[in-house]
Amino acid sequence: MIMDSVIGGILSTGASVKNIGVLPTPAVQFYCKKNSIPGVIITASHNPPRFNGIKCIDMDGTELERTKEEKIEEIYYDNKFHIAQWQHIGTEIQDNSAAELYINGVMERIDLNKIREKKFRVVFDAGNGAAFRTTPELLSRLGVSLVTLNANPDGLFTSRESEPKPENLKYLIELAKSGEFNLGIAHDGDADRAVFIDENGNFVDGDVTLSIFVKNYIRNGEKVVTPVSSSDSVDDICKEKGAEVIRTRVGAPIVSRTMIDQRARLGGEENGGIIYGDHQYCRDGAMTVGIILDIMAKTGKKLSEIIRDIPEYHITRKTFPRNSDFSIIKERLISAFPGWEKDERDGIKLRKGHDWILARPSGTEPIIRVFTHSREIETSRKLSEEVKKIIS
Ligand code: MG
Repeated sequence: MIMDSVIGGILSTGASVKNIGVLPTPAVQFYCKKNSIPGVIITASHNPPRFNGIKCIDMDGTELERTKEEKIEEIYYDNKFHIAQWQHIGTEIQDNSAAELYINGVMERIDLNKIREKKFRVVFDAGNGAAFRTTPELLSRLGVSLVTLNANPDGLFTSRESEPKPENLKYLIELAKSGEFNLGIAHDGDADRAVFIDENGNFVDGDVTLSIFVKNYIRNGEKVVTPVSSSDSVDDICKEKGAEVIRTRVGAPIVSRTMIDQRARLGGEENGGIIYGDHQYCRDGAMTVGIILDIMAKTGKKLSEIIRDIPEYHITRKTFPRNSDFSIIKERLISAFPGWEKDERDGIKLRKGHDWILARPSGTEPIIRVFTHSREIETSRKLSEEVKKIIS
């Protein structure tokens, strides 16, 4: 219904529409980039099925800048639409080429022969989402022997909640624990993110994935962009390699824009959203899958062995309802942790050595997100409890 309304609205302005079907968000973005046309995606990403959204993509495939989004909102709310005369309305064209274009785009960036030689065994949980066809197709072409779960598209997400966190992936994790697979994979609903389960059935945190990519793909003098919310392991690895880390506010579009401005090759978030600039400047679930297999093939190591080389940090994540002014919470936190270094780029981040606390108001929901980071899991949990008391 929403898609038909959006298409009708665009046609009425005199523009034409290519309807490319149900696809992962990054497949649409890649299509926009390759064809230099703007795009619209109807998706609520990882959110529960009662939510939906209209997401606009620029002609280079990146998410629209905030200023341009505001311009669209202004036109919408002020009713300043251009309406074409009847003989000038646009036409709708079906185009089924986007999936092929996207899969080939990912395959161009990885070592196909090395991956195929390994004959990986993979279990993939599509979670009824948009990558139900593209990711299995990619994996098949990589010579992977594949078991899929929930690969039936279903906008009600009846199999599992769409956010790929461990509590929503229990069947995938259970299967991965059988020892039959080299890798478990899950996406969020629109498949711009990918998370992994190692060969022993352990959930791999998005931070660890980002660090693995930095370790294996980044060379001396290159730049990595990541928000203030991701782990210090990125900094440790970059220091060792002579690469630079650029920290931004939280939000994939901000990371993408900064990567373009800074000519950075790799960017990413702690939630499994990885941006590989050589491919395209947006989070990309299938590209993330391609890269992890590429690294596993080239190193000849199991995923758990690759993880062993990554500096170990723990982040505890909590959310709290936001029912008062955030500045009050911010001041309370600052006074509760005297002497801790302050970073006010996004919410408040307080740091002492490798221990840090980040509290920030969500941009999409009336909640406060709290991250507590430490070398030891107990310390990160303890910090989280302390913050909880203050916020309560
Ligand atoms: Mg998403």
